[in-house]
Amino acid sequence: MDQEDSVFDENTVARQIASGHKTGRKTFAFDENHDPTEPITMWFQDTGEGLGLFVIFYTQACRWSRCLGCNLPSLCSQFPVGFKNVLTQVDRVFANPAVQKRRSEIRRLIVSNNGSVLDQITFPSTALMHLVLQAQLNFSNLSVLCLETRAEYVEPAELEFLARAIKEGETPTELELAIGFEAFDDKIRNNLMKKGLTKKVFEELIGDMAEHRFRLKCYLMQKPMPGMTDEEGIRDIQNAIAYFGTLSAAHGGKDAGPRVQINVHLNPTYVAKGTILEKAFLEGGYTPPNLRDVARAALFAENLPLTVFIGLNDEGLAVPGGSFIREGDDPLVERLEKFNQRQDYNILHSFVSL
Ligand code: SF4
Repeated sequence: MDQEDSVFDENTVARQIASGHKTGRKTFAFDENHDPTEPITMWFQDTGEGLGLFVIFYTQACRWSRCLGCNLPSLCSQFPVGFKNVLTQVDRVFANPAVQKRRSEIRRLIVSNNGSVLDQITFPSTALMHLVLQAQLNFSNLSVLCLETRAEYVEPAELEFLARAIKEGETPTELELAIGFEAFDDKIRNNLMKKGLTKKVFEELIGDMAEHRFRLKCYLMQKPMPGMTDEEGIRDIQNAIAYFGTLSAAHGGKDAGPRVQINVHLNPTYVAKGTILEKAFLEGGYTPPNLRDVARAALFAENLPLTVFIGLNDEGLAVPGGSFIREGDDPLVERLEKFNQRQDYNILHSFVSL
């Protein structure tokens, strides 16, 4: 690629991001002031499978950039960050003293760039290879490497390569892809939320993943739209859980050992700054779901061949008063965190009587 082509390409991608931002009626600005050699953030989390490290790298923003209610690209750059910078970010994660101290405890590494890690235009392939290598060298007990991505960037050849690479560590590591499915209803997901994800594409992806026995994490958003009632929010999650349960059973089921183990990651919607949810919230047309309803929705997964994780972190992106965690909710949050660790449905049953 010559210099002119490369400039044209960068501009094309920047324009694509701007177009998504406009289509999604976003008002937030991108973050061009972040140090390009530092990840956006990272944190440890307790997962049902031991210690997890969640890392969000700073790269060029999500090329889709239009989903309603999403302001994740506001923490990214509209422009390329450069593979050397992203490589340095990877090095800094592994050099971090807190990470080094706990490196043998880390069982899950969750990798995000607030977009798609498997989109090589925004997340350089060399950085991904470097990350897999460093994870193998540093995290001797890693059991799951989870990559967040949109479905359309997953290529069978990439899956093939990753399948081989993750087998080379000291302990068996499984690959998990995390996909934003968000809503079961096609009209809500694609017409209103602008996700651009059909069930056909999703099911084809599961077919490709099944060949390698990869895991799948499906993000769902409870009550993602203005105008949706609390009950409609619960019902859509229940429908999605039933659909995933059917897919999991079709690919082996719990007893037969599913070829694609599905984890439902249920995110209660928060009011994200600079989105049309913020406008609806400020005009009194939207309130986030409450934790009792989130527990009721998750309860539907009891006895299905899948696991559930309830997302309880708004990453500081909610407007004041726009979080699903309200004053006095701390004990409820603690109970839901216990559910995440233990998959004990008695905890969710206890919410129904609240
Ligand atoms: S939800 Fe994901 S795919 Fe949609 S705009 Fe946000 S980062 Fe991009």
